[in-house]
Amino acid sequence: MTGSNAETAAGFAVYGSDQGGPFVLVSDHAGRAVPPELGDLGVSAEERARHIGWDIGIDGVGRHLAARLPAVLIEQVYSRLVIDCNRAPGHPTSIVTVSDGTPVPANEGLTPEQIAARHDAILHPYHARITQELDARVQAGRPTVVVALHSFTPEMRGFKRPWHAGILHNHDSRLAHIMLDLLRREGLTVGDNEPYALTDTSDYTIPLHGEKRQLPHLEIEIRQDLIAEEAGQKEWAERLARLLPEAWAQFCKLYGEAGAADDASVQDNQQVAEPASVRAAGA
Ligand SMILES: [Zn+2]
Repeated sequence: MTGSNAETAAGFAVYGSDQGGPFVLVSDHAGRAVPPELGDLGVSAEERARHIGWDIGIDGVGRHLAARLPAVLIEQVYSRLVIDCNRAPGHPTSIVTVSDGTPVPANEGLTPEQIAARHDAILHPYHARITQELDARVQAGRPTVVVALHSFTPEMRGFKRPWHAGILHNHDSRLAHIMLDLLRREGLTVGDNEPYALTDTSDYTIPLHGEKRQLPHLEIEIRQDLIAEEAGQKEWAERLARLLPEAWAQFCKLYGEAGAADDASVQDNQQVAEPASVRAAGA
């Protein structure tokens, strides 16, 4: 499945319909497209197909999951090498000049106008579409859970990552803890803020659309070798389609459907230690 030309021009693609369900799925790194005016970014096709170019396999997981839950899925269609949509505008790794050892010549020496053009063409329309989706739901008084989907490379700088998946969380860890527990009960090795920790600065999507709006949220990372092929993508979509509603039911029982974090619980979670690793390539 690929998005239409119109979707690529818009900077995002939308799949599925929620049919009354609470989940809104977002995939910041699902796409591999490069705007025609940027050519190949000066990066070979082989390099662009690596984890530095996109979150391998998460497109298939997201689309199968959107169909199964059901839910709306909003996907970024451009490569993270063009601009990383999980970074705030101006973040040092928003438009990288080197990623996991691979230079990106087209990103060298950009003028403020060139950077602003990427924000306007890619970053802002994607996040505006997510905001539109969430606004409509909140205005209608519907319970809403933001689920950010990512995948990570199995090996980074010689370290073989042992986790099948990871749950990232920061200021509101309530749904994250429930989901961690459910995934571990499947017999999986699940990272708690591994291979990356969610922070105010290293991430953009969940801080903006989940934490700031006080909407219940999850950030899920799946190891890329498990979802490189369609069979694994379907397996993970089926698993998440089963566990997400279960996690949400537990959350509602404990905290209610609105799920607004009270000040005390938010402050408690701010005392989380600084992460051992910050996001670089492959996040
Ligand atoms: Zn990602």
